[in-house]
Amino acid sequence: MLTKNIPAFLVLAASMTLVACGSGDDATPSSAAAEAATEAANDAADTVAEDAQDVVEDAADAATDAIDDAADAVADAADDAADAMADAADDMNDTMADAEETVSDMVDDAAATVAGDSDAPAASGDCALTIEAGDRLGYNTDSLTAAASCSEVTVTLVHTGKLPKNAMGHNWVLVKKSDLDAVGAAGMTAGIDNSYVPVGDDRIIAATQLIGGGETSSTTVDMSVLDADTEYAFICTFPGHWSIMRGSFTIG
Ligand code: ZN
Repeated sequence: MLTKNIPAFLVLAASMTLVACGSGDDATPSSAAAEAATEAANDAADTVAEDAQDVVEDAADAATDAIDDAADAVADAADDAADAMADAADDMNDTMADAEETVSDMVDDAAATVAGDSDAPAASGDCALTIEAGDRLGYNTDSLTAAASCSEVTVTLVHTGKLPKNAMGHNWVLVKKSDLDAVGAAGMTAGIDNSYVPVGDDRIIAATQLIGGGETSSTTVDMSVLDADTEYAFICTFPGHWSIMRGSFTIG
């Protein structure tokens, strides 16, 4: 375009000069034509130079724009990458939080299950029995009844007092009623380390540990060894307690 415009402009300028010269006063046609041609050539050169400068400027602008665009693109890409990493970090934190929650729930569920298991027999009433004793001589009941349908019965003794076991210790020992006094007497010499329960004594059907205030101990009674025609009794074998701390254990 640029190179084609130059001759057209020259021809136009020259012909306009010739027309002007024809009506001129003192300039000779030949010198006027030469002058016009020179001006036209100069104008054309200026135009070419300006056009060329515009092209260079346009190119420079385009290059600057391209660099800016590229810089923007790099910045955007960096932002996107940073966002993606931040998102990934958030996701990881969420995942870890979820995992911790899941573990916590599992622990809670397990604890609930364990608690539920120990509570469940108590709810049925017969296969798990609880008896209490405090800081004075005496159980909270003088009779316990186990269901005949239970293959095992768990008896839990709870010490509701505050005194230590060497001062006001209690246990729960199951014997035949006919053995009650003899086992009570034997317990006195069995020693606190043995919970005042005679070691290796066949008369002991079941026995908890000796406990003090705030403590709990359980024992399991194998119902298959009990005879429906025999009377059973429970006692505390802490020295001096068995004459008062005693009760009947029946099969219902
Ligand atoms: Zn006792």
